Amino acid sequence: MSIKNIMVIGGGIMGRGIAYAGAAGGYNVTLFDIDDNVLQEAEREIDRFFETAVERGKLEATTAEQAKAAMTFTTEMEKQASHADFVIEAVPENMDIKRNVFEQLDQYTKDDVILATNTSTMSPTEIGSYTGRPDKVIAMHFFNPVPKMKLVEIIRGLETSDDTADATRAVAEQMGKKTVVVNEFPGFVTSRMSSLVGNEAFHMLQEGVGTPEEIDRAIELGLNYPMGPFKLGDLVGLDTRLRNLEYLHKTLGERFRPSPLLVKYVKANRLGKKTGKGVYDYT
Ligand code: NAD
Repeated sequence: MSIKNIMVIGGGIMGRGIAYAGAAGGYNVTLFDIDDNVLQEAEREIDRFFETAVERGKLEATTAEQAKAAMTFTTEMEKQASHADFVIEAVPENMDIKRNVFEQLDQYTKDDVILATNTSTMSPTEIGSYTGRPDKVIAMHFFNPVPKMKLVEIIRGLETSDDTADATRAVAEQMGKKTVVVNEFPGFVTSRMSSLVGNEAFHMLQEGVGTPEEIDRAIELGLNYPMGPFKLGDLVGLDTRLRNLEYLHKTLGERFRPSPLLVKYVKANRLGKKTGKGVYDYT
């Protein structure tokens, strides 16, 4: 099937970025959310993404206008889903919500439509089991901020078919992204590695090895990471980092036990940029 119409479910931080990347890649994109205010906000932010792309010479002004004109913002799921050729879900990281969305999508979309999830940690195998088409369910893990980040990590569930993996890779590439295709295991590749590095940095801080600035600087300049683990943790949110570590500790074992200092920061509501204070102070 040729893919022209992409539907994105959830217009939050990730969904609006994914919708923009799809439109900039030439797809007709429908962005669905249950909250009309979110859609209005998403539309304004997507306008800014297009403006920035034009200013930086990444898109022609007329191409940006055409792409924007091919976008639809809706709170109406059933009718819009029936036109979709490919769906990417970006609702909150909560299995009950995702299950409900996939059950609806399974009912409303054409039978041959691929249903992708942007989950950071959850099992595409489990999500697929809530549909009648587990061979067409796959995880498509974008990174924040979507317009800037190059990779889409594609994760195959147990039942995901080769055709589904190939078509998903082609869609991500059409959106201007690089891809890796991996098999499902807790934390995939990227969440697992960055959780471990982020946790080790907290152990070092607790042991008095260095200040956050020194540890970040050592990792950036010595190991050539674009961003030190504390700066990244504050950006992702220390509560999110802790939640991921708790999940990996449960599924993969002792080496992911969260650092007591990280736990203490979260208890103090030092969650990072979003609360004005994490490891660093943003006030
Ligand atoms: P978010 O809270 O910013 O957005 C979620 C959106 O989903 C909200 O706008 C909400 O109104 C909407 N929503 C809730 N229930 C819905 C439903 N039933 N149907 C349609 N829309 C619904 O969340 P986010 O940060 O964009 O995360 C979305 C997904 O992406 C999660 O699975 C998350 O783990 C994953 N993810 C997040 C990041 C990140 O850095 N934030 C990175 C990679 C992956």
